[in-house]
Amino acid sequence: MSEQFDVVVVGGGPGGYVCAIRAAQLGLKVACVEKRGALGGTCLNVGCIPSKALLHASHMYEAAAHHVGDLGVEVAGVTLNLPKMMAHKDKVVTDNTGGIEFLFKKNKVTYVKGAGRITAPGAIEVTGEQPQTLTTKNIVIATGSDVTPLPGVQIDEESIVSSTGALKLASVPKTLIVIGAGVIGLELGSVWRRLGAEVTVVEFLDYILPPMDGEVRKQAQRTLSKQGLNFLLGHKVTGAAKTNEGVALTVEPAAGGDAQTLTADVVLVAIGRRPYTEGLGLESVGLSTNARGFIEVDHDYQTKAQGVFAIGDVIGGQMLAHKAEEEGVAVAELIAGQSGHVNYGAIPSVVYTSPEIAMVGKTEEQLKAEGVAYKVGKFPFTANGRARANADTEGFVKVLADAKTDRVLGCHIIGPQAGDLLQEVVVAMEFGASSEDVARSSHAHPQLGEAIKEAMLAVDKRPLHI
Ligand code: FAD
Ligand code: NAD
Repeated sequence: MSEQFDVVVVGGGPGGYVCAIRAAQLGLKVACVEKRGALGGTCLNVGCIPSKALLHASHMYEAAAHHVGDLGVEVAGVTLNLPKMMAHKDKVVTDNTGGIEFLFKKNKVTYVKGAGRITAPGAIEVTGEQPQTLTTKNIVIATGSDVTPLPGVQIDEESIVSSTGALKLASVPKTLIVIGAGVIGLELGSVWRRLGAEVTVVEFLDYILPPMDGEVRKQAQRTLSKQGLNFLLGHKVTGAAKTNEGVALTVEPAAGGDAQTLTADVVLVAIGRRPYTEGLGLESVGLSTNARGFIEVDHDYQTKAQGVFAIGDVIGGQMLAHKAEEEGVAVAELIAGQSGHVNYGAIPSVVYTSPEIAMVGKTEEQLKAEGVAYKVGKFPFTANGRARANADTEGFVKVLADAKTDRVLGCHIIGPQAGDLLQEVVVAMEFGASSEDVARSSHAHPQLGEAIKEAMLAVDKRPLHI
């Protein structure tokens, strides 16, 4: 007789492992099935964490080679030790994924290594390292997402890579073409540019970073171009051929026109991610995916099959680790009979370029489209004392507030440590704060966060330092 669980989570990424821990905290008997041989999912293994390790290390390299001299710190003979940088990144990954195993033990979550397949309501067959059949009252699907392929451009993870290959190139390519000016393209494009590659980003749309506020997008393009990223906007890649020198790409104007050939040592395909449900056995409980491959759920993450829930990238929405985590907590609480809930209006989004780009809530374009009357407050980092002291003044804070109620509806930052700075606005929005509430909160001096206070004051046309 096999062990009976209250919850079996399929997938050990940020959605799945957090769900498993929260469910165990609530006294449920929980197992988590993961097939990649390590916990942490895309995020810890081939996503958020390794990319940030390389972003930080490459930023330090560029700063040492080109920028700290401006502050009177003269460093001679800066050289790149790529294997050591990669070893740092790999160690961060294994330390973090090992940390999740420790958390599972601490919370008494059973970690089952192998691929999970739903075979009947409440039954999961595991193949691989620890083959067995698990029986459970509830199943939570958290199988995440995978790279969206581009027809005609075959990824080999050597000269034509996805983000996974771009995180472990053995040498710095002389030339790199990135297909897609989204988050991955700009983050990993920045890493390799800083390390010495000549990087060209080909984007289908005629602007970069589609979901961001228009003003921020324009500033981001200006800043990244100044740093040396080349942009070919309004173009699509229609084919790729491997040559002795590298890769030849066929590129056409998105609106139609003559094709041209671009060549590069390495090509990074970064045109988005798609939900992953391969081999999951959805059909055994009468489920299928929608036209875009996502699993559909109701407000309580319940699929159409009783006792089968789904969370994270596999259900769509913002494909972000912290969004998956919030859903993991919410579904665990709902299964335990509590009232889990996620406020999708206050999920931050951060691009870890330099400067960082961060947003929460509505963009100005969205408010216009929705016919909402709003006020804007803006403040540049050039007018912030700490940013000047740090010689890091690129960018601004932009706040959008309701014209009648003054409630904060959105905040957009491009600038130093934008991601961390944004967090106070996320909390403010979670509590339904007005711009006046934030403007009247004392902000320590000298801090970059004073730029947030000033932008909030600017909503009422009374900034103090500009
Ligand atoms: P995943 O993390 O994809 O985890 C799903 C897991 O399920 C995988 O480990 C998979 O092996 C496992 N699995 C699938 N099917 C089965 C099965 N049948 N049986 C057993 N196991 C199975 N997000 C951020 O918020 N911030 C960032 O900075 C950030 N950076 C990123 C950088 C890159 C390069 C990439 C690719 C993504 C990045 N993301 C970032 C996105 C983030 O990684 C995802 O949104 C997040 O990992 C989604 O979590 P998840 O739990 O839904 O799925
Ligand atoms: P994305 O959706 O952010 O960007 C894809 C870009 O590719 C878009 O600008 C799109 O217009 C463009 N594009 C699509 N088809 C194209 C084509 N044929 N030719 C040229 N351009 C094309 O996707 P991504 O950058 O691959 O990232 C995937 C997901 O991973 C995102 O949803 C993101 O949320 C997540 N992620 C998050 C972070 C972060 O939070 N810092 C970092 C990396 C990835």
